[in-house]
Amino acid sequence: MTSSPAALRSRDNDHVWHPFTPMSAYRDEGAPIIERGEGFHLIDVEGRRYLDGISSLWCNVHGHRVPEIDAAVRDQLDHVAHSTLLGLSSPPSIELAARLAAATPSGLNRVFYSDSGSTAVEAALKIVYQYHQQKRSNPQHRDLFATVGGAYHGDTIGSVSVGSIDLFHRTYGKLLFSTVSVPSPSALRVPKGHTPESFLQHCFDEVERVVAENHERLAAFVIEPLVQGASGILVHPPGYLKHVRDVTRRYDVPLIADEVAVGFSRTGTMFACEQEDVRPDLMCLAKGITGGYLPLAATLATDEIYDAFLADPAEGKTFYHGHTYTGNPLACAAALASLDLFEKNDVLSNVHRNEQILSECLAGLRNHPHVAEVRQKGIMIGIELVADRETLEPFPAERRTGHRVTLAARGRDTIVRPLGDVVVLMPAPAMPGELVEKLCATT
Ligand code: PLP
Repeated sequence: MTSSPAALRSRDNDHVWHPFTPMSAYRDEGAPIIERGEGFHLIDVEGRRYLDGISSLWCNVHGHRVPEIDAAVRDQLDHVAHSTLLGLSSPPSIELAARLAAATPSGLNRVFYSDSGSTAVEAALKIVYQYHQQKRSNPQHRDLFATVGGAYHGDTIGSVSVGSIDLFHRTYGKLLFSTVSVPSPSALRVPKGHTPESFLQHCFDEVERVVAENHERLAAFVIEPLVQGASGILVHPPGYLKHVRDVTRRYDVPLIADEVAVGFSRTGTMFACEQEDVRPDLMCLAKGITGGYLPLAATLATDEIYDAFLADPAEGKTFYHGHTYTGNPLACAAALASLDLFEKNDVLSNVHRNEQILSECLAGLRNHPHVAEVRQKGIMIGIELVADRETLEPFPAERRTGHRVTLAARGRDTIVRPLGDVVVLMPAPAMPGELVEKLCATT
């Protein structure tokens, strides 16, 4: 490609519709056009180097242009770039399914592939909805999902339905199915009439009440384990996930663990569910699954759920769902190489070291007059900015911080993407400590 930076910018403005981006403002920003990656840096067409402070939207794990993953993808290219999983199979998709079944909490033996976090959740919702109708003992029609307030599970219609970030919800309200929700147990702003302790108790009680009152209709309870990412890195208190599992198990309601953001080591364990010894019925994985290389997702299910789909084809119990590129062999090869690197480089130990570095480097920010809270779980960081830390008054709309922070960081050669007034730092799990320190210094 030989186009000049100016020509590329002009064509970008004329033709590319960017996701989750107010396009009217985008044109004036002169956003970097990334041409290359090198380790934990991204380099634009003008040769400027940026530290990737959000691991390319929370998916990059080992850095960019990692020789082992590059080689795995090239090697697969020498075999075949793509063939369908509809009725056929491929060595990388088979190997990866077995590795994922072994690495995730026990019981999740069946792997259904798709291409993004949203589609992994979408598949989980449809699988569990169909499962209830087809299970051998006591088949039922269950049409309600329980969710946690402020959840984000993706942008397809089903995954938006089980999310509750108003900005993404309100436009599509009429297209979405109904859900019941429990309050998020990590609200910074405790509702009137509650102390932090009484609110926490209320949140635990609400799980019990909502599940007890609706269990006959509940197809599943959907949760982001330990951390609600897109709502601003809201960290759940210890024991909450376990409580949700205990209650749902008691009422025979399947649990869908959406580990799209937290999976692959970001909370300090390979999967967040491990920290509370929770075994969900379905688990959604994406983002870090390929080390951040290629689009791939997986919905893992128990044998019990899978078995409900086994019957003579004429009975119509098949899961009629799947995409053209589902289980793409290049992506599966990248994922296998990424899993190998987790072991070879002991990435989890690096995550633990970086967790400590982040905690120490960001400690000073906790007293900043415009910082309401510095939230951290593992290497996931959310720094909530407010106009007034006593009253928690947000900045007025015209002084909203997200956009200003993005531009200020860019001026310091760092890529970040805040969530509203929450500055998110999401270093790649394998980022060296010196670069994590540099990222904190930028902040
Ligand atoms: N689920 C969770 C918890 C997420 O954080 C996200 C994305 O941020 C998704 C699902 C959707 O993933 P994707 O953007 O790959 O569709």
